[in-house]
Amino acid sequence: MCDMRSTEIEETQLVTAEMKVHVLRTGTLEGDLSWFLLRKGDTFIDRYHKDDPRIWSHYPTHAVLIEHPEGRILWDTGLPRNWEEQWAPAGFNDYFPVTEDVNATTGWLDSGLASLELAPEDIDVLVLSHLHYDHVGNARMFDNGKTRIIANNNEIAGVKTIEGTVDGAHLVSEFLGLPLEGTPGDVDLVEGVHLINTPGHTWGTMSLQLDLPNDGTKIFTSDAIYLKDSYGPPIVGSPIVWDNRMWLESVHKLRGIADRTGAELIFGHDKDQIELIKTGPDEFYS
Ligand SMILES: [Zn+2]
Repeated sequence: MCDMRSTEIEETQLVTAEMKVHVLRTGTLEGDLSWFLLRKGDTFIDRYHKDDPRIWSHYPTHAVLIEHPEGRILWDTGLPRNWEEQWAPAGFNDYFPVTEDVNATTGWLDSGLASLELAPEDIDVLVLSHLHYDHVGNARMFDNGKTRIIANNNEIAGVKTIEGTVDGAHLVSEFLGLPLEGTPGDVDLVEGVHLINTPGHTWGTMSLQLDLPNDGTKIFTSDAIYLKDSYGPPIVGSPIVWDNRMWLESVHKLRGIADRTGAELIFGHDKDQIELIKTGPDEFYS
């Protein structure tokens, strides 16, 4: 107990960096809830339930823009406007169509950056939580010779093993040839901005921990935890996981950090939570 208390004090003392953090909405997917959440009893049905309707739901995406004294950092890039064309080779479009009417209101990455009077060249560092199509859809915007693009070493090594053009939600054309810089994870990118290794969803999925002087610690989980209902307790798994045991360990790891720091977790694709957090152009965390 004493050790844990001293850790808390150290972590509190680290909360000094002045940051302005904007959460940008970057498009919303639709699809079968079973992709994200296999509820108990929902995996297999019996003959008496064969006509039960499945649950079709919405899955918003977001990016995080961090205005830090040492530079501008962007976390993830969301969905591309030209998704129908870009994803056609993968065959995702009928399973995960993008909700155009919602996006007309909530915007896309380029309009979100523009609302802050920013263009892709203004971003110093782009960090990709992992290389799935709903997180790297706009990554090529940042292949501008100025923005550093960072992903986890294990994710970069993992995608090199893909044969062909698509592997699950990895669409090779979205990241092939990008100047990806590797990170081992579990590192401070700059003061107050920590990249947490949370593998399992993919080889090298990371989460983002921000230690904010006014708003406390926020952890953006990306797909280490899709939804509040994934986090539980009880933790509820999903079929789109590369390694279930590692995924579970990562959820436990994030819960441990949240318990220690009092962090708020912001899940990767939760349609109810996104409405409760600050995402407007004039709103920010600090
Ligand atoms: Zn993913």
